Amino acid sequence: MKRLRSALALTVALAAAMASGSAVAQNQEPVQRLELFDAHLHYNQEPNPFYPLDKVLEVFRRNGVTGILATSRPNKGTHQLVDAKAPGLWVVPFIRPYRVRADIQTWFNEPAIFELIKEEHKRGYYRGVGEFHIYGNDAAQPLVKSIVGFAVERDLYLHAHCDEVALLHLFAHNPRAKIIWAHTGFTTPPGRVHELLEKYPALWGELSYRSGITNGSGAIADEWRELFARHSDRFLIGSDTWINERWFSYDTIFKTYRGWLVQLPPDQARRIANGNALRLFGPRVN
Ligand SMILES: [Zn+2]
Repeated sequence: MKRLRSALALTVALAAAMASGSAVAQNQEPVQRLELFDAHLHYNQEPNPFYPLDKVLEVFRRNGVTGILATSRPNKGTHQLVDAKAPGLWVVPFIRPYRVRADIQTWFNEPAIFELIKEEHKRGYYRGVGEFHIYGNDAAQPLVKSIVGFAVERDLYLHAHCDEVALLHLFAHNPRAKIIWAHTGFTTPPGRVHELLEKYPALWGELSYRSGITNGSGAIADEWRELFARHSDRFLIGSDTWINERWFSYDTIFKTYRGWLVQLPPDQARRIANGNALRLFGPRVN
């Protein structure tokens, strides 16, 4: 009887240890191994890509990046990423409205760019238009309005690198627009970001190059902790490989994201890491 009781006690103790062990695992380990979605990926090719395709796929693999919002200039790089059908990599393609780098300055005045968007869209797999650059009242141009309308009619997201004035123009063109704000305004005060998220339910913030999220020691700033607590369903992370140097720092960029994601409650971290991308662009393919 005594032996039975001690065996029972041991079983209970073991079960408790296992339970607490799995609680620890749930709270810490998965954040380190969390699958990430890179919501700002450029695979530019002018005239040749910096990395060949297999090298790029290896960069994603070693960083636990299992999904990408893929764009490129010209769009050929995106076609390659889609066509690769790489196991374990979910590609969400967006139409880049640029042929060459100079188009960044003028695309919103060029009917040929609208034609490019329409032509690309015929491929049938695109989920959005962007990343495009637009500032101030340039966003009020009729051509921009037409492109916003085109996107809304086809349920495409817009990935906009813009200031607040331009952002408001985009929503004014069509309140049904769905906008991923590249860099979340770079420096727009978090309080203002909060107001915009409340006002526009179809606005999401992509956080590459966004300053102020962490302080000098890598701890999440209080105002961002509050913003994530309130709106963790509205943020995405990204690399923004707009120049070759960003491929060199790719590992560091995602290590930095993991460094502050681990400081958030796990449910918030999971949403920002890839849960929001799944909700926006899912179901996942590949
Ligand atoms: Zn970019």
